[in-house]
Amino acid sequence: MRTARVGLRVTPGQRRPCFGMLVAAGDVWSCLLDMNRWRRHRGLHGIVNFQELCRELHQAGPGSFGELASVCAEGVLRRFSDAWFATAKRRGEGDVSARFPRRKRRMMPVRFRHGAFTIQGRRLRLATARGRPDLWVRLDRDLPYPAGQLRSVTLLNEGGRLFVEVTAEVPVATYPPSHEPDPSRVAGVDPGLIHPYAVAGPDGQGLLVSGRAIRAETHLHLHDTKRRQRAVSKRAPKPGQAGSRRWRKYRARQRKLEARHKRRVRQAQHEAATTVIEWAVRQRVGTLTIGDPRGVLALQAGRRHNKRVRDWRIGHLIGCLKDKAEQAGITLVLVDERGTSSTCPACHRRVPRPKNRNFTCTHCAFSGHRDIVGGANIASRTPGSGTITTREPTPFPTVITHRRTGRHLPGVTSGRRDPRRRPHHGTAPGSPGRPWPAPPHGESLAHTARISQYHLTNEANID
Ligand SMILES: [Zn+2]
Repeated sequence: MRTARVGLRVTPGQRRPCFGMLVAAGDVWSCLLDMNRWRRHRGLHGIVNFQELCRELHQAGPGSFGELASVCAEGVLRRFSDAWFATAKRRGEGDVSARFPRRKRRMMPVRFRHGAFTIQGRRLRLATARGRPDLWVRLDRDLPYPAGQLRSVTLLNEGGRLFVEVTAEVPVATYPPSHEPDPSRVAGVDPGLIHPYAVAGPDGQGLLVSGRAIRAETHLHLHDTKRRQRAVSKRAPKPGQAGSRRWRKYRARQRKLEARHKRRVRQAQHEAATTVIEWAVRQRVGTLTIGDPRGVLALQAGRRHNKRVRDWRIGHLIGCLKDKAEQAGITLVLVDERGTSSTCPACHRRVPRPKNRNFTCTHCAFSGHRDIVGGANIASRTPGSGTITTREPTPFPTVITHRRTGRHLPGVTSGRRDPRRRPHHGTAPGSPGRPWPAPPHGESLAHTARISQYHLTNEANID
């Protein structure tokens, strides 16, 4: 199962029913919480079973939830029921940190399953309540999956913008004979803050994906957020006061920028994961071992480092690599990564944690890139890996491929100037002109040519 997010192009007349459905789904969710609280106060058992919930819903009668189709309302019930039983299972296993659903939300994503949606090219039909006309909206790009593989469409709102998440069943990739990934060829992946993925593979091959653009985006975003906050903090409503209209505008803008930042980082991380998988397929790597640092991230490490760790989105980094590996027919193994960046891969002795990117062993003559060292040590922790049987120690990568991620991020290429830093209005002094759209993944010659031509015309404009 793969999911892609596609934006919607809607007219105000289409936007209203879309938000109507999202709010109606939020109402269904709140009703469930209210009903169960009411029942608990009266000593009755809560209703959490999907079938029983459906019965309750249908007693309410048709049209109780605005424009929301009843199959979509049932989707919210399904979600509630699944969340409740998942928590109950975790609590049964002794995990007291698991919480039952209890937060009300103004809007909830609405899922349309088979039959409740149709896709014709870039046009999407969504089912609405019985007796009302279906809603047709436009997608802002073509779907990456063939229409026959689509399973469901989820309508959602992020910072005031409408998106659909399209889920499709994509078969595992097939390869020509003797090109398929070989499970005995193992590569170790070290997830990091600077290099989202550092990979040490077989045959002395390594891959470093640089995430400096992501870090720059994070820093700029934090800087802007702080400045905006400072500018409006005086207008913040006191407790119990309703916010002013200007304050509400500020909040809406803040949410919108937060959502955009999240999208940018997520996109860059997806690109990084794609780079790793493409490289692994070329190297015929069949097993990717990734170090999982999530066990130690909850420890307090000072406010700066805590923030860094929160911005890292390690769960997403591991998750998207896992999805893409599965689709490519590669097995992903999670191992404990403790100590892997401070152990020498040649003599296996602990050395003090390196301060910079160079790892130098104090016991033997070994030196190498710190993150690749981590990757090599993680590879050696693969359970039942082929390296033990052959007893031929995996050579430390000598050929390292360098890749960057986040070419779409502002300020990364000359074609993608950061509108937050410089004016970009026509002939304003110092203006580089209109920003170009993001260059394609793996920059083409045509694009470079276009940029240089663009510089020429722009200089001519200034003269
Ligand atoms: Zn050593």
